Amino acid sequence: MNRNLYDLLGLAIAVCFILALKGLASPKSARRGNLIGAFGATVATVVVFFSPHEKSPTTHHHTLLILAAISFGVLVGVPAARKIQMTQMPQLVALFNGVGGGAAALVAIVEYLKLGSAASTADVVATVFTVIVGCVSFAGSVVTFLKLQEIMTTRPVIFAGGRFIIAGTLVGVVLSAAWVIHSMGNTSIVVMGLLSLLFGILFVLPVGGADVPIVISLLNAFTGLTVAASGYVLQATLLIVAGTLVGASGTILTRLMASAMGRSLFGTLFGAFTAKPQAASEAGEARPVKSGSAEDVAILLNYAQRVVIVPGFGLAVAQAQHTVREMADLLTSRGIEVAYGIHPVAGRMPGHMNVLLAEANVPYEQLVEMDEINPTFPQTDVVLVVGANDVVNPAAKTTPGCPIYGMPILDVASAGNVIFLKRSMRPGFAGIENELLYDPKTTLLFGDAKESLTKVVGALKSL
Ligand code: NDP
Repeated sequence: MNRNLYDLLGLAIAVCFILALKGLASPKSARRGNLIGAFGATVATVVVFFSPHEKSPTTHHHTLLILAAISFGVLVGVPAARKIQMTQMPQLVALFNGVGGGAAALVAIVEYLKLGSAASTADVVATVFTVIVGCVSFAGSVVTFLKLQEIMTTRPVIFAGGRFIIAGTLVGVVLSAAWVIHSMGNTSIVVMGLLSLLFGILFVLPVGGADVPIVISLLNAFTGLTVAASGYVLQATLLIVAGTLVGASGTILTRLMASAMGRSLFGTLFGAFTAKPQAASEAGEARPVKSGSAEDVAILLNYAQRVVIVPGFGLAVAQAQHTVREMADLLTSRGIEVAYGIHPVAGRMPGHMNVLLAEANVPYEQLVEMDEINPTFPQTDVVLVVGANDVVNPAAKTTPGCPIYGMPILDVASAGNVIFLKRSMRPGFAGIENELLYDPKTTLLFGDAKESLTKVVGALKSL
């Protein structure tokens, strides 16, 4: 392929990536954005495959190996992405992200070994950066995957002297980096890679369940930076552009998520070392609650003037989005005002509820963001909390030191009645008790959200 054509296509691909990010900024254009991004990535793979090689422009090296790697990626990636439940998306992102960081680190190591003493200091510095950040991203992503998949505990893992061990490992990484730059040897780069892997594990272990998605976003930004640096090592402009876009958008997303949860990034990562242990009485003490039947809930809804539905992670688990819309349509047809209160971190990823409700064709104008809906709760007769917990938990305001303290919440307690649809008294993602469940104005309808809503719809129809 001609060099000018290659550069021109590279520019077009970069434009595709930027348009993709723009499209992904809104639920209306997200599908289009995703397709543009996928198109750009596919063209990029083909273009790079046929791109001129600096040393031997007419021959391809390792063609079979490259094709085997592409086929393997397609065979694993496509079924995984197709089969995955929406609720497991963060785990998938963590895994794919980790593999990306690890791959960039391996490529950088191979290039480093190939260059040997011919490597310039700039090349070595870029390699060191790629290997460190790529290894941290890989190891950290594997731990976040294990936490989210509940293969290991989702609670913060802290141990005596933990912060000193983390700080010591970081110092070890920096010293080994200096050793690599100074010696340009093979042993030093292996030691640096191993220490970086250890640091990646140690720095994610203290992060608690509810904060893990923020760390995934941060590691995603790290992978972007790694890829950009490996682009420098390989002299590949496309990698630099794509990596920088991922790094920048990942950083913005991390900041947005942390601020939606009312905390600093430092607090997210190391808050467990300073958090107060929770009192034993806070967890699972048997106390009376008011539970009701689907018929009770239908009567409350039917005689309300304004109903707000608060969807959460459980709605996604139960796949109850279509049934909730059917119920809302029924109420609207009876002249009852219905809105959905959308918390920015309801579910397990940003925009989770918007995507889910859009799938059921819920009109966008019924989706009301937290800041806008909060002042309307005192004028709301019934709030129906469908599989949400942390995002309505008053402990975020009243219990300093608890994992969600400081996170803005939906103030559903100021509405006339609150109905929770959940299966048990188990807490939400953050693992803390919700006092609102015991409030006299709260009614609990136990059961899977989809089954409960189906019963409520049936009861409404018979009224
Ligand atoms: P929570 O995890 O707090 O609560 C989910 C609730 O759903 C639980 O009470 C659970 O109770 C119930 N549930 C689960 N399955 C079902 C089912 N099949 N039918 C009915 N109920 C069910 O979810 P929220 O959406 O309120 O909060 C999101 C959490 O995720 C927050 O802690 C947030 O900080 C965190 N987070 C989200 C991010 C995002 O971007 N969205 C990013 C970072 C963190 P039970 O088991 O009794 O049924």
